[in-house]
Amino acid sequence: MTQPTFTRSWVACANGHRDFPLQNLPLGVFSIKGSAPRSGVAIGDYILDLHAALDAFEGEARRAVDATAGGQLNAFFELGRGPRVALRERLLELLAEGSQLQAREAEVLHLAADCQMHLPARINDYTDFYVGIEHAQNVGKLFRPDNPLLPNYKYVPIGYHGRASTIRPSGTEVRRPKGQTLPAGQTEPTFGPCARLDYELELGIWIGQGNAMGDSIAIGDAAEHIAGFCLLNDWSARDIQAWEYQPLGPFLSKSFITSISPWVVTAEALEPFRKPQPARPEGDPQPLPYLLDNRDQKAGAFDIELEVLLTTASMREQNLPAHRLALSNSLHMYWTVAQLVAHHSVNGCQLQAGDLFGTGTLSGPQPGQFGSLLEITEGGKKAIELASGEVRKFLEDGDEIILRARCSRDGFASIGFGECRGTVVAAR
Ligand code: CA
Repeated sequence: MTQPTFTRSWVACANGHRDFPLQNLPLGVFSIKGSAPRSGVAIGDYILDLHAALDAFEGEARRAVDATAGGQLNAFFELGRGPRVALRERLLELLAEGSQLQAREAEVLHLAADCQMHLPARINDYTDFYVGIEHAQNVGKLFRPDNPLLPNYKYVPIGYHGRASTIRPSGTEVRRPKGQTLPAGQTEPTFGPCARLDYELELGIWIGQGNAMGDSIAIGDAAEHIAGFCLLNDWSARDIQAWEYQPLGPFLSKSFITSISPWVVTAEALEPFRKPQPARPEGDPQPLPYLLDNRDQKAGAFDIELEVLLTTASMREQNLPAHRLALSNSLHMYWTVAQLVAHHSVNGCQLQAGDLFGTGTLSGPQPGQFGSLLEITEGGKKAIELASGEVRKFLEDGDEIILRARCSRDGFASIGFGECRGTVVAAR
């Protein structure tokens, strides 16, 4: 079998790059040496400065670049698919071998390691769903061994409104939250630092064009309203959550921080990795008509490999490799991303460009595929043994969680999402 040949980039390190080859071209917002945040495109180990290269764009592509000004991508997201595709096509020309832009390399490229990444957009609203059915079953079994899923799960994409003000880019430290918890066997709560701090492996979905309040986004149009994807860590204080969550759901157990990877991987970059939505198990209900679209069922899922790694302060001091906590996949979603958009807006709720959705924890069914410590340790019953000799049931101060995502398919260049990192620091 002959190896496929891919268009090569004059940015040599981009060719075969783990995350950011020419075929990815995610957008983000960065700053360098204290300058104002501005928009860029990841290419290999570098960032293409869109403002510095502005005169290389015209027409729809120029309109797209202009909309990325001001250090946030909301206006660009709002433009929708046409200008986004025009920008991608022009970037593919400009960064391919033979482009005249190479002569301006020093002016338009920055080494990513010298730059600071910011949130890519102003996030007005954040909603976290619960569509990882294996996670829902794994967690449900801890509380209801015979009946892990509640009766609504296979009809309604479950979600709750999260806190947008505490979403932060990868690398932001995670301050251990304080709160009320109910000690085992007690009837009165105590107050103090969370003792059961956890992470959740999720994908983030960036909303593009929104809808007017009162209107709904039809399932057949819903994919057009998605601007891109990122990694999302829904840090969770399990002891606070267990005491507060009934009857209205998670609140302070989730709102202290949510971390995301800073690069927006576009729907166009993910196109080769689309898959049919996995068939529902025998006996499951069909989605209601407002959630069912033939094209969405045929190509609305994504094959994205998801990984969670842990290092402790001691492991880093000893130069021990990170411990892989999970390897999972986005195909464990019971609902497609288009179904989430259609459901969220079906009541007339207004979505706006730059809104962020979390998918919910994307666990697989097998050990080694679980996307939270709650599942891996069965609620703190089983300890994880690390190469340093340490054990973990939940996260301790100094622990770092690293999320990664990667898409591979024969005949196509592999692309990645970069990383979503966070290190736990002591409660204040
Ligand atoms: Ca979650």
